[in-house]
Amino acid sequence: CKVSKNNTNISQKNYIKSSTNLNIEQSIDSLLLKMTLEEKIGQMNQYNGFWDATGPAPKSGDQAALKYEHLKKGLVGSMLNVKGVKQVKALQKIAVEETRLGIPLIFGFDVIHGYKTIGPIPLAESASWDLEAIKKAAQNAAEETAASGINWTFAPMVDIYRDARWGRVMEGAGEDPYLGSKIGVARVQGFQGKDLSSAKTIAACAKHFAGYGFAEAGREYNTVDVGTSTLYNVIFPPFKAVTEAGVRTFMNSFNLLNDIPATGNEFLQREVLKKEWNFNGFVVSDWGSIAEMTPHGYAKNNKHAAELAVKAGSDMDMESSAYLAELANLVKEGKVDEILIDDAVKRILRVKFELGLFDDPYKYCNLENEKNTIGKKEFHEDALDIAKKSIVLLKNENNLLPLKKENQKIALIGALANDKTSPLGSWRIAGDDGTAVSVLEGLQQYKGNTLKYAKGADVITKDSKVTFVNELKINETDTSGFAEAIQLAKESDIVVMVLGEHGYQTGEGRSRTNIDLPGVQQKLLEAIYNINKKIVLVLTNGRPLAITWADKNIPAIVEAWHLGVQSGNAIAQVLYGDYNPSGKLPMTFPRSVGQIPIYYNYKNTGRPYGENSDVVFWSHYSDESNRPLYPFGYGLSYTTFSYKNLKINALADRKISISVDVSNTGSVQGKEVAQLYIQDKFAAIARPVKELKGFKMVALNPKETKTIEFTFTEKELGFYTNKGQFIVEPGEFNVYVGGNSNATLSNQFILK
Ligand code: BGC
Repeated sequence: CKVSKNNTNISQKNYIKSSTNLNIEQSIDSLLLKMTLEEKIGQMNQYNGFWDATGPAPKSGDQAALKYEHLKKGLVGSMLNVKGVKQVKALQKIAVEETRLGIPLIFGFDVIHGYKTIGPIPLAESASWDLEAIKKAAQNAAEETAASGINWTFAPMVDIYRDARWGRVMEGAGEDPYLGSKIGVARVQGFQGKDLSSAKTIAACAKHFAGYGFAEAGREYNTVDVGTSTLYNVIFPPFKAVTEAGVRTFMNSFNLLNDIPATGNEFLQREVLKKEWNFNGFVVSDWGSIAEMTPHGYAKNNKHAAELAVKAGSDMDMESSAYLAELANLVKEGKVDEILIDDAVKRILRVKFELGLFDDPYKYCNLENEKNTIGKKEFHEDALDIAKKSIVLLKNENNLLPLKKENQKIALIGALANDKTSPLGSWRIAGDDGTAVSVLEGLQQYKGNTLKYAKGADVITKDSKVTFVNELKINETDTSGFAEAIQLAKESDIVVMVLGEHGYQTGEGRSRTNIDLPGVQQKLLEAIYNINKKIVLVLTNGRPLAITWADKNIPAIVEAWHLGVQSGNAIAQVLYGDYNPSGKLPMTFPRSVGQIPIYYNYKNTGRPYGENSDVVFWSHYSDESNRPLYPFGYGLSYTTFSYKNLKINALADRKISISVDVSNTGSVQGKEVAQLYIQDKFAAIARPVKELKGFKMVALNPKETKTIEFTFTEKELGFYTNKGQFIVEPGEFNVYVGGNSNATLSNQFILK
């Protein structure tokens, strides 16, 4: 461990891990001994960026001035939402050079799908089922983020959810704990790399612990009430998996979990995370969530909230200032044991040491590197690669797609087709510059056809403020552009319509009660449909949409999500067949919002629904089928695949092997995500009708067949009981393999 030679100031601080060869734990202990109680609590305090740190100091008397004083006194351990080397360096300089102990700050930022080079929203990326590509995306995001001075991202969100009304479904890996675990781990590995102390990697943060995705009725921040089995078998697995993969930080969440705020939840943070799972990094609260325990009806006031949160294991206070204001008194009054403070501080220091910030607090602050790294060509190439892989072909009657490349008159319709901002989706704070390639620009590159564009209708009203914090106003009335679009469609051979959600209709605080095409877009779709032209519908959205009418009437539908900066290029390549779509849905698409929550791994009722039954007393709706519109794992290709010869073999060491032949039965090369589902037929607690237990990507030429094999151990057939105990039971299991969660090729085995 070296002390940075070119920074004498650092080496003057006597705590610094230095040539004395202290290991990290010894360094932490020796530093802790030198810290006052106030300095310790300072490490647990995180502030949002509060002033332009390259300019003059804030004026005394205002909030910023107070925070500035705290910073100089060593009462701030971390900052968030500060970006750019100049800003970070200026703040770090205060922490390192002006405070008594010179402990460096850790800088956090919401790098959710890219820093400046915005990639597909995480839900879209997850539709690729391509773990290597997902890991690469996180790695690039880390490199770009690190180059801008930041060393910690508040990602990945590994919440599992089943409610498309919730706005934050765009931010995770979908409804399934198995897929969610694999993707969560890939993202953590991408962000953190093998060496956290490299200047190209950053600390990751698993959020939101726990249950946030199960907000009642999909309403943001709402109460969460789940039983032990759901908590352990559905919500916990991705969090546990990323802990095992070495994620360095956790964020707790805004919600009540079974009537206790997650932020003040000792069971979650101390018992499960820190004790059972042995997590030795730190937990940051969500924004202001410590103080929010008062409106929750759990804490009496800020002081009480600080006490409850620290006892429960929340190590760092994001922006509520409750720790800074109250913890010292709580310790002095004997209400909080200083051991708890020490534990939290050690965890925070540990991550700072691991990041190498004590060796060189300015290691992320290289202006030249910032200039050369941000927006690198390679990042854009990778963003295009994963954007293509994220697209899901939902319907393609009579092979309407791919489009012919010559002599076609194409009408392109929809405001979202000519939008360079919406494709960036939500959470693009550093990359919010409207530079996405639009669908119009993407298609214009194919010169063999005549392409004409008409907006048809706006998605949001002209006076809507398109910012992270403002509510959008949806255009519910203005149809004045319909006539022009209809005329254009009439003069064309084929119509491509780009419809869906504005980029800021999903994300935090963006729950919806209707998940249809917003505003007048459905009307526009029907108006064009009525003139009897072939329509390709391209959806750009951040959540599953209930597009039942479109599914019935429109021959070709492409789910293109919010794909980031390379959006238009990716969509054009898929529409023209230069990339054969291979994406599969990570979340069920309902037929109507009333079916929600709808997910593939449900449990049967005692009265399962017979599809053609006219008996009232079966588990069903009288006005809608139980089936989803598109099931989990679903996605078509320009070729077709078949599955045969499903074989099950017992291997040594109580391992099981399942093999199947996958063939390309169509006429073009394609990639298929073969999926393995298993059902435990009866057990100590009722188990889902099926659960994803493996998937494999297989590339096949026309007429080619490959045998693929899934192997797993018996342990992977286990589950948690209602007491939170993990068990593996003997019994009978059904196996299904195929290209989506409705896979019908089946076999069975008995575990003795
Ligand atoms: C969100 C977190 C985010 C934090 C910091 C909160 O409102 O819930 O996911 O990391 O803000 O921006």
